[in-house]
Amino acid sequence: MGLIPARASWIRQAVTAFNPEQSRVALGDGSEILYDALIVATGLKLDWAAIPGLTETLGRNGVTSNYRYDLAPYTWELVSGLDEGTALFTQPPMPIKCAGAPQKAVYLACDAWRRRGVLGRVQVAFDTATPSLFGVADFVPALMDYIKGYSIDLTLRSRLVAVDGDRKIATFERTTDNGVERVERSFDMLHVVPPQTAPDVIKSSSLAGQDGFVSVHPDTLQHTVFPNVFAVGDVAGTSNAKTAAAARKQAPVVVENLIAQLSGRKLDYAYDGYGGCPLTVERGKIVLAEFGYGGKLLSTLPGWILDGKKPTRLAWFLKEKVMPRLYWDFMLRGRELFVRPARKSKG
Ligand SMILES: Cc1cc2nc3c(=O)[nH]c(=O)nc-3n(C[C@H](O)[C@H](O)[C@H](O)COP(=O)(O)OP(=O)(O)OC[C@H]3O[C@@H](n4cnc5c(N)ncnc54)[C@H](O)[C@@H]3O)c2cc1C
Repeated sequence: MGLIPARASWIRQAVTAFNPEQSRVALGDGSEILYDALIVATGLKLDWAAIPGLTETLGRNGVTSNYRYDLAPYTWELVSGLDEGTALFTQPPMPIKCAGAPQKAVYLACDAWRRRGVLGRVQVAFDTATPSLFGVADFVPALMDYIKGYSIDLTLRSRLVAVDGDRKIATFERTTDNGVERVERSFDMLHVVPPQTAPDVIKSSSLAGQDGFVSVHPDTLQHTVFPNVFAVGDVAGTSNAKTAAAARKQAPVVVENLIAQLSGRKLDYAYDGYGGCPLTVERGKIVLAEFGYGGKLLSTLPGWILDGKKPTRLAWFLKEKVMPRLYWDFMLRGRELFVRPARKSKG
């Protein structure tokens, strides 16, 4: 509450329909709001129901997910309680929020088992629906070192399609050179990352592009059809990594361009697709993957201070100590000292 600016009114209602043709939104209490400009920032939808059997067993039978923050303690309880057996970790098809988060859970669990001396007795598997371990090739070697070091059984193009919590069986669809095969695996612990889509209220509106997310220009973040609409964060239909780090860089660009739009000026500022995934590969070390559109490396610090392609203690320190302060004291208060929106290149 203390973070809401004094001149802003916080309307505690969900938007139930967007009507950008008339610059109106409908709210849950039946009222409507007419706007001059709209910034859409609803995030994305975690589609738990897309995996049959999952919602019924989530939070028990050894089935957990750090994508529900209230279940993070259960994840830790499972990791702490497992001395032998099979632990499965999954990643759905893209797009997902924080592409590195499914791996963070695997590595930190393995690190805990290794420290307790039981890693050799826990069979760890990571099934990801993606065709590679990480979307930007520069970061893959460092991550593969950990996959090998922890003896993780990695399967690419493998999608969790069903969970039977009572029998402790997970079913995967794996794409191989011979087609798609269904594989059943028993588990003692299952960490699931749910499939993710645009929210239904966006998908069903004329704001949506083909992928269901808000159709905006990737640089200005202005809507492709409705010039008084912008999007920021996970809901934007852009190809950047969906992270808070991305929203942090997008927000000042949207602010500058929105002011220009309202003043009848040309939109001059551009977002470069920056996103950041701090991959916690072991307690105390992080591979800090920072990159923009097309997988272009966009490191915040020079390589001689922090090489994001390698695990470093400095990245862990930044994540643990510096980023929370950046978030609460700067980003949320609109005082971004470290992010200057870049002007569009001419021509
Ligand atoms: C396990 C995990 C680890 C992550 N780690 C990192 C990390 O290390 N670094 C990083 O940068 N990012 C990380 N992320 C990603 C980051 O959390 C998201 O990218 C970020 O929260 C997106 O912000 P957002 O504001 O777009 O969406 P959200 O944070 O989802 O916020 C959307 C808001 O809109 C509201 N809303 C939704 N629908 C409506 C509606 N119809 N009407 C009104 N309000 C609505 C919601 O209630 C919510 O408050 C992680 C995510 C997860 C799950």
